[in-house]
Amino acid sequence: MHAVDQPISFHCECGNAHCDEAIRLLASDSKAIFHEPHRFVVVSDHVIPEVERVVERREGYAVVEKTGEAAEEIDQEEQDADAAEPTG
Ligand SMILES: [Zn+2]
Repeated sequence: MHAVDQPISFHCECGNAHCDEAIRLLASDSKAIFHEPHRFVVVSDHVIPEVERVVERREGYAVVEKTGEAAEEIDQEEQDADAAEPTG
């Protein structure tokens, strides 16, 4: 078995609704990044410091973590998902 580390295309997750920039991540990188529910990738100069902080800068993109209300919304969604799970 060969685990091929292929680049995967992701859309930039910045706040601009009209943004359609693509970011290429290696499969192994994306796995590590998206392991954290608050983390997203945006094009390097699309970071909005008011709502997110840069966790890591890489070639052509930045890994950001949502802060404040945006992060709370994500937490809320996670909790709702847990609550929706059938018991038993
Ligand atoms: Zn963008």
